[in-house]
Amino acid sequence: RHFLQIPGPSPVPDRVLAALSMPIIDHRGPEFSRLAKKALEGIKTIFKTTNPVIIYTATGTGAWEAALVNTLSPGDKVLMVETGQFATLWKKMAEKLGLKPEFIATDWRHGVDPKAIEAKLKEDKNKEIKAVCVLHNETSTGALTPIAEIRKAIDAAGHPALLMVDSVSSLGSIDYRHDEWGVDVTVGGSQKGLMLPPGMSFNAISDKALKANQSSKLPKSFYAWDDMLNMNKQGFFPYTPATNLLYGLREAVAMLEEEGLDNVFKRHDRHAEATRRAVQTWGLDILCQNETEHSSIVTAVLMPTGHSEVAFRKVVLDNFNMSLGSGLGKIADKVFRIGHIGDFNDLTLMGTLAGVEMGLKLAKVPYKKGGVEAAMESLTENLIKSNS
Ligand code: PLP
Repeated sequence: RHFLQIPGPSPVPDRVLAALSMPIIDHRGPEFSRLAKKALEGIKTIFKTTNPVIIYTATGTGAWEAALVNTLSPGDKVLMVETGQFATLWKKMAEKLGLKPEFIATDWRHGVDPKAIEAKLKEDKNKEIKAVCVLHNETSTGALTPIAEIRKAIDAAGHPALLMVDSVSSLGSIDYRHDEWGVDVTVGGSQKGLMLPPGMSFNAISDKALKANQSSKLPKSFYAWDDMLNMNKQGFFPYTPATNLLYGLREAVAMLEEEGLDNVFKRHDRHAEATRRAVQTWGLDILCQNETEHSSIVTAVLMPTGHSEVAFRKVVLDNFNMSLGSGLGKIADKVFRIGHIGDFNDLTLMGTLAGVEMGLKLAKVPYKKGGVEAAMESLTENLIKSNS
């Protein structure tokens, strides 16, 4: 078994693999309609929304584009925050689409500061900012943003901007509440917490976003919400849908429901906590500096000065057949990332951390022994607590 310990795509469980291998059916027939309706209903429970969720045959990047082109018009100002590489890519996309992003700089070691959002919106007396776009979980740095606090900041500023959130790497792994948090568009992807292959992505939408859609002037065709929403009502799509990914989605949602979403979140929290204990015991630094912002699906670890993460990850891959996440963008070769997301249990975590600790020694990276032991302690302490 290849140890795929990157923060997505994540390993696909056997049950989902079996569902993906169903024979292809007629995408205009009654069986498909039943499948699509089930999948479209099921995904709503994961976003925690009662509104429709749009399913695209596209990756997360496509769903980013869909969120912007369906709600905004050329020249609109959007407020974005440079939390890391994925925030940077979304901002670059906004520019290419003819929007005017204002990009609040950070040191790539934190989530979004709600106070910074509130301050910028208060400065915007003419209400020119049409959307605030943030990432719930910045996959490149392992920093989480408190979305409920961002909503409060927008409300405190009395600003009408839409709130758009990227939940590509948190959906189905970290608590997320589209409706309760007053999010207007949430962007999701299949290949992380949903334990599916890459190739499917989502827009969860609010009534306010639907209203914005009516006056939005950015060109849209493949990503247009209106055609999709009309066809989805009957359980169909405007074009040939990814039938087998829908079988997989139906199975993945069933698995998450069987475990219970809250238990899934707790499992990810426990694994993240044990991982951090290991990293701290090794004497290495966690990139995300604020404890309350530590991600439960990925831990980004700073390499000691003078040591290459690329070389380290190669040693781990060559010796243990394990892939760890690379450093991206301006932290390339400085940070490696341990993914603990999706179909993951205590023993897969221990295998992962053992591979990292052995790799550190083989790659001659300075570290202190005992990280794996500390992670085991953390996991067992948590089990004792929950079993008592
Ligand atoms: N947003 C986040 C937070 C991501 O982690 C990723 C990919 O890893 C994306 C967006 C882009 O998604 P995709 O690579 O599926 O297009």
